[in-house]
Amino acid sequence: MKLLSVGTVAFDALETPFGKRDRIVGGSCTYISLSASYFLNDLGLVSVVGDDFPQETINLLENKSINLEGLQIKQGEKTFFWSGKYHNDMNTRDTLDTQLNVLENFDPIIPESFKNPEYVMLGNLVPALQLKVLDRLENTPKLVVLDTMNLWMDVALEDLKKVLKRVDLLTINDEEARQLSGEYSLRKAARIILDMGPKYLIIKKGEHGALLFHGENIFYVPALPLEEVFDPTGAGDTFAGGFIGYLSATDDISFENMKRAVVMGSAMASFCVEKFGPERMENLTQEEINDRIAQFKKLTDFTMNYEFA
Ligand code: AMP
Repeated sequence: MKLLSVGTVAFDALETPFGKRDRIVGGSCTYISLSASYFLNDLGLVSVVGDDFPQETINLLENKSINLEGLQIKQGEKTFFWSGKYHNDMNTRDTLDTQLNVLENFDPIIPESFKNPEYVMLGNLVPALQLKVLDRLENTPKLVVLDTMNLWMDVALEDLKKVLKRVDLLTINDEEARQLSGEYSLRKAARIILDMGPKYLIIKKGEHGALLFHGENIFYVPALPLEEVFDPTGAGDTFAGGFIGYLSATDDISFENMKRAVVMGSAMASFCVEKFGPERMENLTQEEINDRIAQFKKLTDFTMNYEFA
């Protein structure tokens, strides 16, 4: 298997300045897999849902060639539920509710055909479960990427530190990087976090783009200034899915290629925020994605021939 992704498949309740949804499909793994599915077919998902989860979403994921052998459906149990409300700037949000439900007793069983993945995306999930997934693999993947959030820093920091020692790359947002490192300066924060284990770090800054750190190297890509942002939910996961989807499809983990992957992740995230939930990620075309990449290029391209007198 080329890419294994793990995380939540969920129901979300969302409120943004543009509207409200009481119960739509979400989850870190849903966004990651949908986004990565545009780059490869050999992609497996490990997660869990209850019997309340819609069959039509399962069909949708299957139609995207996402292998769902590792998706457990627990009879008589309820799917993980998360509810969040965005502030007016859409860059910050409050978690209103997190109901673990099926996640409480989730044992991430890895199907035989998933046990030797070349690339692994550990999407946002209880750190102890992320560790379990790594323990159950039979090989050492080429690249393991971890995503996490402030909740796990609050309630499971020791487990999170253990996972950090075993992954190659961490993606978190700026607020979380500051919390994890205890440093306000993102540059200093990056140095501290890179000392915790991962060789690479991506700090996502919402509408202000993303930074990639590796040793003394830093690369920055802005977010595309969009006219309308309806719902930022899943943007981080969609970014991660596009990033690792592109890396696994090109099978090149050099820093130069990671820069391209950061642009690809940012392009995919720019679609995600245009509609509520994962809707916009369901039917993208290659032309649309290529066009976004061209817009990123144009946005950041300039020449300068000024000569001081
Ligand atoms: P993002 O906006 O990229 O941070 O991801 C939002 C998605 O993460 C939502 O669809 C939620 O269902 C999911 N989510 C929220 N809280 C958690 C959590 N504690 N663990 C795992 N997934 C979560």
